[in-house]
Amino acid sequence: MALGFIGTGVMGTGIINNLLKAGHHVTVYNRTQSKADEVISHGAVWADTPAEVAQQADIVFSMVGYPQDVEDVWTRDDGIFAGAKPGTILVDMTTSTPHLAEQLAQTGADLGFKVLDAPVSGGDIGAKSGTLTIMVGGEADVFEAVKPVFESIGQQIVHVGAAGKGQHMKMSNNIGVAATVITMAESLVYAKAAGLDLETAYNVWRQGAAGSWSIDNYTPRVLKGDFAAGFYAKHLLKDLRIALDAAKEMDIDLPNTALAEKLFAKLSVDHGDEGVQAIVKLWAAFSS
Ligand code: NAP
Repeated sequence: MALGFIGTGVMGTGIINNLLKAGHHVTVYNRTQSKADEVISHGAVWADTPAEVAQQADIVFSMVGYPQDVEDVWTRDDGIFAGAKPGTILVDMTTSTPHLAEQLAQTGADLGFKVLDAPVSGGDIGAKSGTLTIMVGGEADVFEAVKPVFESIGQQIVHVGAAGKGQHMKMSNNIGVAATVITMAESLVYAKAAGLDLETAYNVWRQGAAGSWSIDNYTPRVLKGDFAAGFYAKHLLKDLRIALDAAKEMDIDLPNTALAEKLFAKLSVDHGDEGVQAIVKLWAAFSS
C-alpha cells in the first residue's frame, strides 16, 4: 500500500522500518531531513513537504512531538490537508490533545478525508520490535480499513471510540506510566540508602507485586547510567499537562498526576532531552 509518514524521530523511525519490512511503499517527511536518513537507507522515499507526502499516499500518518507540531504539519499551506486526495485516510499517532483530535476529525470530514487519532504505548522498544499498543479514536469502518497496517507495527490494537477517545485512552495510560517511573526512582533511592544491592532489588521488584513495564524497562537503563531518551522527559511532561487540562474540564481531581507534573517540570529544566528514567536525578544519590 502507498503510505505517507511525517515525523522520523525515535518512534517514527522504528515504525517506518516495520512498515517497510511489511512491504509497504512509504514516503516520508521530517523537519530535520538528516533524521530520515536511516529509513531512507531502508527504502523510504523523501518528499519535501507534508503536502507532497499526502499527494502520494492512500494513508498518511503523523508522529511528531507536540500538539502545535501536529497542527503545523496538518494545516499549514503545504501541509497534509493541502496535499491529500479526497478519500485519503489521515492518522495522527502523536500523543496530543483530545480537543485537537476532534477538531482535525471535523475539519478532515468537511474536506472529504477520513481521520483517526491513534497514539501508541510501548516506547522506543515497542516501535522497533513492532509490538506497540495502539489506541484508536474515530469511525469504526475507518479503523477496520487501517487495522492491517496497524498490525504490522503493533500487537494490541484497540478501537476505543469516537475521535479524541484514542488520546483520552493514551492519557489514562500515561498517568500510570508517570506514576510507575516515579515509583521506580523512589524504590531505587530507598534501596540505595539502605545499602541494598540494586541489581538484586530490581530482580525482586520485577518478579514480585511491584513489577511493571517501567520497572522492567527503565531500571536497567538507570543501573547502566544510560539516560538517553527512549521516551523524552519533556514529552511525558507534555502528556501530564494534557491529562491535567482534560481532568480539569471533566471536573476530576488527580493529585498523584499533579505531583508527577511538578516533578517532571523540575526535571525538564535541565534534563528534558533525556529519557524519563532521568527522574532519579532529582535525588542527590543519583544526581551526578
Ligand atoms: P522525537 O524523536 O522528537 O520525534 C518527533 C519527530 O517529529 C522529530 O524528528 C521532529 O523533527 C519531527 N517534527 C516535530 N515537529 C515537526 C514539524 N512541525 N514538521 C516536521 N517534523 C516535525 O519524539 P518521539 O519520541 O518519536 O515521540 C513522538 C511522539 O510520540 C510524541 O508525541 C511522544 O510523546 C509520543 N510517544 C513517544 C513514546 C516514546 O517512548 N518515545 C512512546 C509513546 C508515544 P526534528 O528532528 O526536526 O525535531
